Amino acid sequence: VSEQLTAEVVVLGAGSGGQPVAEALAGEGVDVVVVEAFRVGGECPYVACIPSKALLVAAAAGVGWDKAVRRRDAAAEQRDDSGTADGLVGEGVRLLRGTGTVTGPGTLDVVTPDGDRIELRWTRALVVATGSAPVMPPVDGIDALPAGTLWTSADALSVTDRPDRLLVLGGGAVGCELGQAFARLGSDVKLVEIAPRLLAGEQPWVGDAIADALRHDGVDVRLDTSATRVEPQDSGVRLHLADGSTIDADRLLLAGGRRPRGDRLGLERLGVASDDGALRVDARCRVLGGADGVLPDVYAVGDVTGVAPFTHTATYQAEIVADGLLGRGRDADYRAVPRVVYTDPAVFCVGVTEANADRALVTAAVDVADTARALVERPPHAGRVELLADPDGTLVGAAVVAPHADSWAGELALAVRAGVPVSLLADHVHPHPAWSEALHPVSRALGIRLAAVADGT
Ligand SMILES: Cc1cc2nc3c(=O)[nH]c(=O)nc-3n(C[C@H](O)[C@H](O)[C@H](O)COP(=O)(O)OP(=O)(O)OC[C@H]3O[C@@H](n4cnc5c(N)ncnc54)[C@H](O)[C@@H]3O)c2cc1C
Repeated sequence: VSEQLTAEVVVLGAGSGGQPVAEALAGEGVDVVVVEAFRVGGECPYVACIPSKALLVAAAAGVGWDKAVRRRDAAAEQRDDSGTADGLVGEGVRLLRGTGTVTGPGTLDVVTPDGDRIELRWTRALVVATGSAPVMPPVDGIDALPAGTLWTSADALSVTDRPDRLLVLGGGAVGCELGQAFARLGSDVKLVEIAPRLLAGEQPWVGDAIADALRHDGVDVRLDTSATRVEPQDSGVRLHLADGSTIDADRLLLAGGRRPRGDRLGLERLGVASDDGALRVDARCRVLGGADGVLPDVYAVGDVTGVAPFTHTATYQAEIVADGLLGRGRDADYRAVPRVVYTDPAVFCVGVTEANADRALVTAAVDVADTARALVERPPHAGRVELLADPDGTLVGAAVVAPHADSWAGELALAVRAGVPVSLLADHVHPHPAWSEALHPVSRALGIRLAAVADGT
């Protein structure tokens, strides 16, 4: 150990979760050290949310690959974190570049990029914000592929050459977004998903609608089939599927999910067990484990908690932790965290689905094509809005596939969070001719169904 440091609060990881916790605490005079192994800002600004959206927007605007890449890289600040790091330090946070591991109660070992070791102590709290990493699927031969042929999403969002043939493994949010972006930018895209539908956790029609949209963009969507084996080819890979078919591609993009990075941090020394990498937390984001059931001075935020892995969850949890440490503690409420996919049309889902609800729900849906806005814009895939209510008339969920749903369907998340009665939503006035007008007929239709259920008809 070449140095010893002590801080009131140590934050491990400076991504979407760690950075705002540190800034909020330092802003109110708390002494904070942030330990960051790679880029200050984490994944979202450089290799995840921001470059993927920039690529999608460029592709929707019909620009060519080179211009799309320039826009992507500008949005991602050329993957240079110095401005963000300066901002963090400017807020009064002490930044320590290196990789941290917990060595015991109140102590971390930090290895700096130069190989120096620093003993870092926290006197009040440790906040773990180490994010998640892509999962390597169990496909024979995948480990032996030559460098460069196997892509993570971070690779796909950093490269400057566009593959002629891209094979996307996984039909979740990342697979759908990158599949559409690359297809629109000229790649021949094939997407393989083991589940019978894309976006498998949502209402079934949502994945069907996005599969239609991707196919319209030329993506070859293969559902209900898994990859068994992969082998290198002259200029790429050959993937064998369980149905006996093969797919040749220049690049294989892993989009089959991510694993929280909570299990190789030394937290087992504090009595925390994790099989799946996730650090379970209570409503104040305190990590569960140890002799008392919860570690009173260890918190976790962001993807590492295994809760709704989005940047907006990470920043929300950051606020929960900072407010708790600043004496304004409150419980997190995840019932209305939006689940958004930024494809065209976009997906906006919130609250429960019929599959995960613990009771029978009453639902109604309308086609977005019936809105005045669709007459104006004439999108190839206008999509649909579905609302889900408890039989008592409370809105508990919504699923929207529609142009720009990410930007206009937010009122549904607030309505779910507030437990708004469907009758109130149906009485609410929406602007004409906006996409949100679709919420009027669907809430009225749901009101009629609810009345019929109440009458037993
Ligand atoms: C392609 C893609 C697109 C996405 N698009 C969206 C989107 O549009 N909207 C959205 O809300 N979410 C999106 N996400 C998810 C979003 O990126 C994550 O939910 C978010 O980045 C999680 O923040 P985090 O702070 O938990 O982790 P990260 O941002 O990954 O930050 C964790 C940080 O911890 C550091 N670290 C890890 N271990 C250590 C250690 N031992 N010591 C020191 N430092 C360490 C890492 O270097 C990293 O900087 C997307 C994800 C992907 C992959």
